[in-house]
Parts: sequence; structure tokens; C-alpha cells
Amino acid sequence: MPKKATTPMMEQYYKIKEQYPDAFLFYRVGDFYELYEDDAVKGSQILELTLTHRSNKSANPIPMAGVPHMAVDSYVNTLVEKGYKVAICEQLEDPKKAQGMVKRGIIQLVTPGTRMASGPEDGAEANYLTSVIAKKSGYGLAYSDLSTGEIFATHVKRFAEVFNELLSLRTREVVFDGQMKQDERESLQKSNITISVPAELAGEHAEISYAEQNLTDSLERAATRQLVVYLLATQKRSLAHLQAAESFEVGQYLQMSNTVQRNLELTRSATTGKKQGSLFWVLDKTSTAMGGRLLKQWLSRPLLSQEKIKRRQDLVQALLDEYFSRENIVDALKGVYDLERLSGRIAFGSVNPRELLQLSRTLNAVPAILQALSESGNEVLASYGQAIDPLGEIAETIQNTIVDDPPVSSTDGGIIKAGVSEELDKYREVMNGGKQWLAQEELAERQRTGIDNLKIGYNRVFGYFIQVSKGNVSKVPQDRYTRKQTLTNAERYITPELKEHESLILEAESRSTDLEHELFVQLRDAIKQHIPQLQTLGRQLAALDVCVAFAKVAEEKNYCRPVFVDRQDLEVKNGRHPVVENVLGAGNYIPNDLEMDEDTSIYLITGPNMSGKSTYMRQAALIAIMAQVGSFVPADSAQLPIFDQIFTRIGAADDLYSGKSTFMVEMSEANEALQRATPRSLILFDEIGRGTATYDGMALAGAIIKYLHDKVGAKTLFATHYHELTDLDQTLPHLKNIHVGATEENGKLIFLHKILPGPADQSYGIHVAKLAGLPKKVLRDASTMLKRLEAQGAGEINEPVAEQLSLFAPAPEVSEPDPLTESRQDLLDEISQVDLNEQTPLEVMQ
Ligand code: ADP
Repeated sequence: MPKKATTPMMEQYYKIKEQYPDAFLFYRVGDFYELYEDDAVKGSQILELTLTHRSNKSANPIPMAGVPHMAVDSYVNTLVEKGYKVAICEQLEDPKKAQGMVKRGIIQLVTPGTRMASGPEDGAEANYLTSVIAKKSGYGLAYSDLSTGEIFATHVKRFAEVFNELLSLRTREVVFDGQMKQDERESLQKSNITISVPAELAGEHAEISYAEQNLTDSLERAATRQLVVYLLATQKRSLAHLQAAESFEVGQYLQMSNTVQRNLELTRSATTGKKQGSLFWVLDKTSTAMGGRLLKQWLSRPLLSQEKIKRRQDLVQALLDEYFSRENIVDALKGVYDLERLSGRIAFGSVNPRELLQLSRTLNAVPAILQALSESGNEVLASYGQAIDPLGEIAETIQNTIVDDPPVSSTDGGIIKAGVSEELDKYREVMNGGKQWLAQEELAERQRTGIDNLKIGYNRVFGYFIQVSKGNVSKVPQDRYTRKQTLTNAERYITPELKEHESLILEAESRSTDLEHELFVQLRDAIKQHIPQLQTLGRQLAALDVCVAFAKVAEEKNYCRPVFVDRQDLEVKNGRHPVVENVLGAGNYIPNDLEMDEDTSIYLITGPNMSGKSTYMRQAALIAIMAQVGSFVPADSAQLPIFDQIFTRIGAADDLYSGKSTFMVEMSEANEALQRATPRSLILFDEIGRGTATYDGMALAGAIIKYLHDKVGAKTLFATHYHELTDLDQTLPHLKNIHVGATEENGKLIFLHKILPGPADQSYGIHVAKLAGLPKKVLRDASTMLKRLEAQGAGEINEPVAEQLSLFAPAPEVSEPDPLTESRQDLLDEISQVDLNEQTPLEVMQ
């Protein structure tokens, strides 16, 4: 509701504000952007601005805060970072020339999803805006990083899948059309995702038809259209760099939920949130910002197509084989700037002269890359190079036009080389001639007046002037000199000749800066025509950069090229965990084999705490992911199937965030795997059942294993401290026991970190207790109690004892079935009758 305005300016303000109720309105007044009313109150708090008031004298002064226009970007960024929107309102005409109120209008709406990276530190992170259309038949999804103009579109059935995509993309803003349930809305808000309503836009726009040209699915088209409309409506300019949307099937990639990606620490450490400690950290030996971004994209989307993977592997192999070519490529890549972002800035009209020069430097680096590729004599490299168009003409045009060391600003002149425009050269001649004349005039006046220290100077207020020190004022010729300004030690004068030349110079100067800007815009628009080619080149260089990184890491860390088989058959020789190995240093990691033939689907892993169970399981998943991304893997050799999905239940780092109880999260994640895994999936379960009472947990763990064994058949690594479960290998033919070995040396417990067949050693716990020097009496009692328990069945174990023993002590030998084993078997049979598929985690728990 517009407030009653006291002045025409405020009237204009309220009218504009009315159209942007959910954004901070930055209202340009002279050299400031001003905020009024609630915007001022809230903005002054968030931005730490002084809150003042407009029209103080009136009964209802208007709260007001302001920021200088030079510093506006950082204020806008702060607000948008926090999830707010900012509408930038500019003066649309020169206030000096305006008749009455200066015309104002919104020139851009900056939102969390449309904020463009500016600093180099932003370069590694894409900022995605996602558009979602919800229909009965499912969801259409399209997303774009405005700074690069890439668009991807897909469609999914369930909101959970939408949510998962949003989290994987780290989307900050979603434009949503359709019904959204309350809990769905809340889950978005909890994840700091701004929910925006779709924008409206009159008329046809070339960007829209271009973006949706390759899409066949109607939901994807609708979502893409909604996305582009929103971008155009908020940015209020043409966006020539928006690319044709690329459709993808979620099932086209190895699927991992966002939780799985986080648990496996693919791009950031789960504990610190930083790159260090992640798989990305190990693999990121890229030389360009584009390469770094692409590597992250690849890691969250491993491929399913053997052919595509093989293509990447071939390139990595070739780069590994051709050391010198690779080094030359790396050298050249160092001169490559962010082509994708530069293209975006060109299209956006925000590119500056220095950045155009960066573009030409980038293009100048390409021939060296092509040369390295073709001269390698390697067929794979040569053909990669043949597909690259170096776009040399663009570089040449830029170099011929822009001076070698241009300023950042495109409006202050000093950008365009001599010889580009005759008109410009003429102005410059006048300017130079004028300046020469000034130098001569200075000398001449000194002679004429006899004042040795007479100087000609310039300032903005008086223009050119002659300055004479106080002591020489008496020598000033009164007839020709007019006094203009008095300083403490000097007087300033003008003469008619000086003014005449001044106007010539200033006129030429102003015309020349205008013309330079015009020429700059012409050049920018000419390059705009080539944006699709620039984007293609950017992608080719980025992919090459990533494969170079893979080759470097493979070489430094002795990785091998994995081979894919069509059977569900895994054979990794001397595999290592890439990140732990990186932390421990070469040679300090104990390698382990992982062999699961078609006939084995479950490995039940036992062993003491801290022995390496979890590391071993993660290692398997990371090797699978690296392989399907096209990277080489940390092993002596690796033969793998193509996995379609990875499920995990590990760690508890994220449980706080969801607000659910740990056990509930545990069960939900287990359920996800039981429901969705196929025989081609990989499942990692670490200590399932731990979050509840011992028997409850053990029973569930047993039932889950049986279900996975009988109904799912996915390759499963299941670590447990319930040693009782190791008996399952008697009845489940596809299950095998393995354990992590440990030993004693000079009275100290040594973890071997070595995976060995069979369950962990029986007397282990008490043995460790002995090593730790516990009183003899305790050890004796423990042994007695263990024997008694073994004889009686587990029924009388009270919980702490069970926990303690089960950490170290394996189940009793089962060579001859004893009553315990049988009764346990009954229990397990009973559990296995339960159809988890049909139950909620809560029911399962009960
Ligand atoms: P668990 O899951 O059995 O409790 P972890 O997998 O967490 O044990 O391993 C504990 C620690 O042991 C890890 O942090 C790592 O430093 C070390 N470790 C694990 N596996 C190995 C290995 N194969 N070689 C060297 N150190 C290892």
C-alpha cells in the first residue's frame, strides 16, 4: 500500500517500491543509493549503516539510510548472500538536463540465484538458479549459472528428487510454480533456499526459444521457459550468452543422494566444510577456474556409459604417456582466463577493457595448446586438438583495437589504440596539439613577464590557469590577466588565449572519450556474436584441464586405469583410500584388496574400533566414483562393474541439521537403500542399529542383511560390532565375513589395517584389556563371564557389558551348532519375515 508522499520524489519512490515489495530498494539519489522506511530500518541493521530520517521537520519523518554508489556492490552482495533481493533503481536521465523530477527506474533485480561471481575466489563455485514446475505428472527442473549461461533441464517424479537436486547443486534460489506442501516448503527454507514466484514478461524473446530448442519433454520446456523469463525479467537486458538447455536424465548418471555425497566427502570435508580433506582436494590439480568447476560437476555426476568413461580415460592415458606435451599444455593453460565467465560478462554488457584483453590473452594461449596436442604424435591428443577452433580472429581484433595496458573503466578513455579510428586520432591530435601549445605558452609567458616560476595548471573548477607565486604578483600584466583564485602562496589567473585553447582541448577530450566508449561497445557487440563458439572452446579447455589433472595425480600417486566388466564382479588389488593416503603420505597407507565375485553380494566386516573398517568401505565407494568419472584409481589394478547408485549409512555428521533423531535418520537412510537399490548398486552400512538398544539393533541389522541378501543383491559392505551376526554366513550363501587385523607388539596394540578373511578373533576384547594393564581380577572375571554367556545364550547380557564385549569379542565358534546359535537363528528367521519394504522406519523400530 503506497504511503502518502510528502514530496514528488517520495511519490516516485513509493510507486516503484510498490512493484518490488519483497526486495530492498536501492534508490539512486546523486552519489548515493538511499533506502527508506522498513528497508532503511532493516538495512541499517544488516549493513551496519547509520539510520537517519528524511523530512525531519514533519510529524512523520521517514527512516532513511544510504550507501555511496561507488561501494554499492559490496552492500548488495551482503544482502543477497543472506538470501534477500535487491532492486537497483537508477536515475535514467542526467539530473542537470532533467526537467522537473529526474526519471528513475529499476535497472536490475539482484537475487540469490542471479548474483554473479565477481572476485577470483568466487570462480570455483557455480551459483545456480533453479526453476521448478510442479504438475500432477511430475516435476520439470531447469537450472542455470547466470555468469556462464549454461542451462540444464530434467524431469523427475518425486519432490524428494527435486530436493536432492537442489541440495546437490547448492542452489540458493528456486523459482517455483505449482503446489508445494507445507513440509516441502519448510525443508527448502531450512536449507536456506529462497523461494521465488515466477516472473512475467511481455513479448517474444529470442533467448527463450534458443534455450528450449533442443528439449522435447514438455515439463523441461516449461521449466526452462520459466527460468529464462525470470532471468530476463530480473536482469532487464538481453542475455545472449544463455545456452541451449541440455536435457539430462537423473538416471543418466550414477545416483547418489546429497547425503551420500556429503558423507563420502566428494567435494568438501564433512567436518570442516572445506575443500581440504575431500576427494576434490586430492584430484584438483587443474590450472583454470573452469577446470576446477568442471571437476566438481563431474564428481557429483559420475557417468554410466562405459563408452563416455572410456573416452575420458583415453585422454587421461594419452596425457599420462606424453609427459612433455602435457607440460606444455599446463604452461599454456596457465594463461587461460575464465572463458565461460568472460563470455557471460560480454553478453551481460559488464565486461571491461581489461577483461577483453584477458579474453585475447586466453585465445592467444590456445595455439600453443593445439601445437602441443598435434606435435605429441599421439592420436588421441591430436584428434582432441582437431576439434578445437582457436578463434584467432577474435584475439586479433581485440589486440588491434585495445591498448596494451587499458584502464578498468570503459568510459574514461585511454582504451583504443591509435589507427583504429581516424576521427579519434584527429581528436587526439587536437588534444596533443593543445597540450603542446600549453607547454609553449608557459615558456612564452615566463619570458614575456619575467616570472621564472610561472606555471600553467588545471583544475576541475577553473579549467586551465596561470599560477604566479605571491612574490611575483607585481610583475603580472594587468591588462591581459584576470585573477580567478587566491591561494596562500600564489594567485591564479586566466587569459583569453588560454580559455580559447582550453575549450578546444576539452571539447576534443570529451568527444574522444565518448567515441572511445562507442568503439569499445562496438567491439564488445562484435564479439557477442561469437559467444557460442567461445563457450564451446571454454568447455573443451576445461575438460582438457581436468584430464590433465587426472593424469598428473595418477602419475604422482601411482594410480591405475580401471577396467570395466559387464558382470557384477569387483577385483581391486592393493586399493587405497585416496584422501587418507594423501594425508598419511605415500607409503604409509596399508593397501587392501577388495574382491567380490558375482556370487558374493555382502561383506560383513568386523574388527575393533579404529581398525579401519570405515576407511575400507569408503575406499571402495571412492574408487568406484573415481572410475566412473574417468579418473584413474588408487590401486595396483582394478576391475569394476558400472554401479548405478551408491547408498551409505555412515557417520552422524549431518543428523543435527535435519532435526531428526539419529536412529530415525539411520533407519531412513537404510530404508532408502532397501527400497531403491538394484543388483547394480553399491551399499555401505556402517554400524547399522547402533542407535538403539542392543538387541533391537542387532535384530534389525540381521533382518536388514537378510533382506539385502535375498531381495536386493546389491554389492554391500556392512561393518558391525555385533559379532553375533558373523554366524549369518552359515545360512546366507552370498555373505562372507572379513575382518580388520590387529596384533600385539612389545605389549602394545598395533592396528594392522589389513583386511583378512573370516570374522574377527574371539578373545580379542579381553586380550586388549590385558594389554592395557587392567587388574588381573577384572580379566579373570571377564573370562568367566564370557564363558558363562557363551553357555547360556546372550539373553542375560546387560547392555554395557554387551557393548564392551561386542566391540572386541567375536561370536562363539559355530563349528558345532549350539543352542544359542539355534535360538538366534529362530530370531533371525522371525525378523526376516518382516517386510521392511512395507513399513515405516518407526514401525520397523517397534
Ligand atoms: P573404524 O571404522 O574401524 O573405527 P576407521 O576406518 O575410522 O576405523 O580408521 C581409523 C583410522 O585408522 C583412520 O583415521 C586412519 O587414519 C587409519 N587407517 C584406516 N585404514 C588405514 C589403512 N589402510 N592404512 C593406514 N591407516 C589406516
